[in-house]
Amino acid sequence: MMRLEHWTNASEQGSAAVHTLLADAAGKAAEPFETVPYFWSDQFGIRVQSVGMPSQASSYRVIAGSLTSDSFLIEYHDKNELVGVVALGMQSRILKYRREMNQHPARGHQHPKN
Ligand SMILES: Cc1cc2nc3c(=O)[nH]c(=O)nc-3n(C[C@H](O)[C@H](O)[C@H](O)COP(=O)(O)OP(=O)(O)OC[C@H]3O[C@@H](n4cnc5c(N)ncnc54)[C@H](O)[C@@H]3O)c2cc1C
Repeated sequence: MMRLEHWTNASEQGSAAVHTLLADAAGKAAEPFETVPYFWSDQFGIRVQSVGMPSQASSYRVIAGSLTSDSFLIEYHDKNELVGVVALGMQSRILKYRREMNQHPARGHQHPKN
């Protein structure tokens, strides 16, 4: 169990709660709520996005842009496994990672093809 205080999680949990209620009413087993943490925030006109668990990483790599600019994408790794991605001003690139991580939440994440 993990507390995620972000808009995306609040919305996903609302949807999951409705599915659980409807499954229960239909006498079916409810799907467990599983999500890969994701948030976005607009700060001074720049979109900040994070997917996965960057805090679990032991190393990171700047994949695009530069940390001294207002546009970059960073991959976070632990034991050669991608555990998170943070981007500033790179919406479409990080969304590819989000899609990939959501499709394979339980195993090591592949790097999306750009
Ligand atoms: C300043 C600020 C900036 C933020 N920026 C971002 C951001 O950039 N990106 C992001 O992803 N997240 C952001 N967040 C977090 C995000 O707003 C929350 O995670 C999200 O709103 C949680 O949604 P919620 O529906 O669970 O709760 P809430 O949005 O808190 O809604 C709960 C609602 O229930 C009502 N309520 C409470 N008790 C009762 C009661 N007893 N009876 C009836 N109604 C009740 C409340 O009035 C409220 O309307 C920010 C939060 C703050 C405070």
